[in-house]
Amino acid sequence: MKDTFKHKGMRQQLVEVVKAKGITDVNVLNAIGKIPRHLFMDSSFIDHAYQDKAFPIAADQTISQPYTVAFQTELLQVKQGDKILEIGTGSGYQTAVLCLLGAQVFSIERQKELFKKTSQFFPKLGYRAKKLIFGDGYIGLEDEAPFDSIIVTAGAPFVPKPLLSQLKIGGRLVIPVGDEIQIMTLFTRKGTKEFEQQEFGEFRFVPLLEDKN
Ligand code: SAH
Repeated sequence: MKDTFKHKGMRQQLVEVVKAKGITDVNVLNAIGKIPRHLFMDSSFIDHAYQDKAFPIAADQTISQPYTVAFQTELLQVKQGDKILEIGTGSGYQTAVLCLLGAQVFSIERQKELFKKTSQFFPKLGYRAKKLIFGDGYIGLEDEAPFDSIIVTAGAPFVPKPLLSQLKIGGRLVIPVGDEIQIMTLFTRKGTKEFEQQEFGEFRFVPLLEDKN
């Protein structure tokens, strides 16, 4: 599979669409403009890769909508070298965005099929995550904590406590919370026990499921 001028052109249009919807972070927009999203999707969907939509990937999961990826990433305020935990590796597209922004990314996926597929494919594209992990995101990654930020890319029925406790002071957790529809929520850790909570409107994600599969 190749990345052609046609793909690059389509990507620039996608950047314009995401910008028009309100994304202003230049680094995030550059990442969307650079990453070949079509290579993260199953071949039958490649023609749709540069529409601002979610699409099916393996194991009944989806690659998130580019606007959603951009929105969550903007909320993280990623700085070069940040240690970031992602819950829900999926296709690896969001992981690639974080890597491109210079973060050290740890990413957990609970579906074995997706974990295997993405683990094999991701380095081939030239991205280097710190670690891709097969596991349950509800428990986070205690061994590597604390994190500068944590991003959850599946709809969480509630906020898992370990994720809050694995944040650095000043760290940020971006998590869509809710069952059918989720409210994008940002928690900022202000102290050992103090968290500021801000809400950013409705989104729809596949559910954050417990345990591994
Ligand atoms: N960031 C991904 C989004 C994939 S959809 C992308 O852009 O492609 C959400 C992903 O979260 C799915 O792959 C799903 O299997 C995974 N997931 C659901 N519950 C999980 C859990 N408890 N721990 C880790 N991953 C989980």
